[in-house]
Amino acid sequence: MSKPAVICLDLGGSFIKLGVMDAQNALTILDQQNIPATSWTAFTTLVSHMIAQHQAHFTADSPVAISTAGIVAPDTGEMFASNIPAFHQRRLANELSAILQRRVIVHNDADCFTLAEALTGAGQAHKVVFGAILGSGVGGGLVADGRIITGQNGLTGEWGHGPITLTEVELDGETLRLPRLSCPCGQKGCLDSYGGARGLENLHQTLHSSTASSIDIIKRWQQQDRQAQQTLQAWLQLVGQPLAYTINITGASRVVVGGGLASVVPLIEALDQAVQGYVLRSTRQRLVVPGAFAHHGGMMGAALLARQRHG
Ligand SMILES: [Zn+2]
Repeated sequence: MSKPAVICLDLGGSFIKLGVMDAQNALTILDQQNIPATSWTAFTTLVSHMIAQHQAHFTADSPVAISTAGIVAPDTGEMFASNIPAFHQRRLANELSAILQRRVIVHNDADCFTLAEALTGAGQAHKVVFGAILGSGVGGGLVADGRIITGQNGLTGEWGHGPITLTEVELDGETLRLPRLSCPCGQKGCLDSYGGARGLENLHQTLHSSTASSIDIIKRWQQQDRQAQQTLQAWLQLVGQPLAYTINITGASRVVVGGGLASVVPLIEALDQAVQGYVLRSTRQRLVVPGAFAHHGGMMGAALLARQRHG
């Protein structure tokens, strides 16, 4: 019997994407709508409508696989740390399953991305794969032997909300002290405050008292602009050391990078070089590479997770 098509949903802070994974595990995007982020009823009505509109792609036994920002509590199934207010403390999988009359799985998007990369992307053939999300913020996921490591509290891989390991960086031979910035998570000095695209902007501001977008900073770095070069020099130290530390702890032999910064190939190459300098034993093999699924890794991974659970 062939495997049923999987209904895939990517739920972001501003959009809902709908896709289908066929029996050969190929993903096709079918629809995208703005998400009614503050109303549970409007949200469930729209999802039901989107699935009904594309029902020709699915069968009665098609499960629903959801990738979303935020964490699913492993013990209760409740959502927390979600950027979609309508999901606050909802048991998303159970409640949607009752409404849609289908099996529903929900998982964190960084974990889903890492699973997709480990099974079919840039982490294939590696026993332990760490997914490092460098988007507007910093996230992560861990996959071992082709399975997501969820951990006791669902937070495995969240390396962005721990302290930067360095408070001093070397810039052109000079040592510079950096402040530990307050993080929206309530802690002080999280990597997230310097590590993602927003963090890069914070760092540039801290070092040069100058406001610039991450895209602009990276463009100027590639044009050898001195200030931007210093910012990236500091960024590679601040991100490279915790990433090396993460590799030491998890035993990952491959780090796949997702999020907007993953598309800057020279930056990820430079990050790999930085990390190689910090791990206890560097190898000739690339450790840090851009992910293969820049846009739909979350959906892909959620669908593969549904396959693992439901066939
Ligand atoms: Zn934090």
